[in-house]
Amino acid sequence: MERIYFDHAATTPMKEEVLDAMMPYFTENYGNPSSVYNIAQVNRKAVDDSRASIAEILGARPNEIFFTSGGTEADNWAIRGIAARKGRKGNHIITTKVEHHAVLHTCEYLERHGYEVTYLDVDEYGLVTAEQVEAAIKDTTILISVMYANNEIGTIMPIKEIGEVAKKHDIPFHTDAVQAIGQERINVDELNVDLLSLSGHKINGPKGMGILYIRRGTRLCPLIHGGAQERGRRGGTENVPGIVGLAKALELTYADFDNKNRKIREMRDYLIDGILKEVPYARLNGHREKRLANNLNISFEFVEGESLLLLLDMEGIAASSGSACTSGSLDASHVMLAIGLPHEKAHGSIRITLGETNTMEEADKLLEKLPAIVQRMRDMSPLYEDFINNKK
Ligand SMILES: *Cc1c(COP(=O)(O)O)cnc(C)c1O
Repeated sequence: MERIYFDHAATTPMKEEVLDAMMPYFTENYGNPSSVYNIAQVNRKAVDDSRASIAEILGARPNEIFFTSGGTEADNWAIRGIAARKGRKGNHIITTKVEHHAVLHTCEYLERHGYEVTYLDVDEYGLVTAEQVEAAIKDTTILISVMYANNEIGTIMPIKEIGEVAKKHDIPFHTDAVQAIGQERINVDELNVDLLSLSGHKINGPKGMGILYIRRGTRLCPLIHGGAQERGRRGGTENVPGIVGLAKALELTYADFDNKNRKIREMRDYLIDGILKEVPYARLNGHREKRLANNLNISFEFVEGESLLLLLDMEGIAASSGSACTSGSLDASHVMLAIGLPHEKAHGSIRITLGETNTMEEADKLLEKLPAIVQRMRDMSPLYEDFINNKK
């Protein structure tokens, strides 16, 4: 059966060109970049060149780019690093209710260790405002962390405006840009961010590889203690193939970017319009315009999202549910609850996230299969039966 992959927010396939760039650094170029002898120089250069290329794309300086084991470590480092460094100045952190667990669980951990965290509410679209952030600032605030774009509903936050507020109050500002990086052009100066997290595997790069951008002058403690790598701020022998792969993936992301971005956006809108037209009692979650080019998240009344995913999978279509919780529990997603969906609707949501290789034929296949699957599920639902009978 033909397989259709619509879950690019979970991970993306690595590109052949990325693999090709990485390959020599697994085998013949095995040197440790920290070594002085000649055979290691090629590795040192590969790391330096990759850092320079990434910095240029983000509008940063090479010495502001730090390699990590992924988006999760970058988020942990930004938050715990600032907390440890600034703990004497204050203990208050501002974030939102819709962050990725890498941020939320780190903040919850800090709360158990004497820090105070404000989790800002979002509106029905998943947005916070710069005014909300400003109103939450106290004398003790040491960090603001707001995600660039939400991984479940695709909503894009007003990062530039929040950055201006943070700058005005001289508070370090972190953004988790893991989902945004493949879909939006990012310049760290335009955004007024001091710390920014990225991940390789969400942009057709390697898994287990990420970046924390740290603006010059932003002081934070290391998270990983060890050798003098990354200028003493993140120990551990460099993942040279991973670093080379991440730089290559980022470079390819921005090659022909506008064209690819427009196509994906068009496919997204085609699917949103098509689904809302073909399936009754469905609603789009997140903001219609302020949303990632590749994300659609739709709730279907009288439908259980997990079952819908299984039925789609039987048709060869891989998507994700807005309600899946990493712990495997049946708790509704914190994002769905934060935008005000009641539990039963939060459970009836699916997330479709597109990638460069998806085609209009695949989009049509979804539009062909989905309405019938939803109808089949509703036909088995006593709640739906009551609802229809009451309407008559
Ligand atoms: C995937 C993701 C992460 C985690 O990145 P990893 O590289 O998988 O650790 C963090 N934040 C967001 C928004 C994500 O989507």
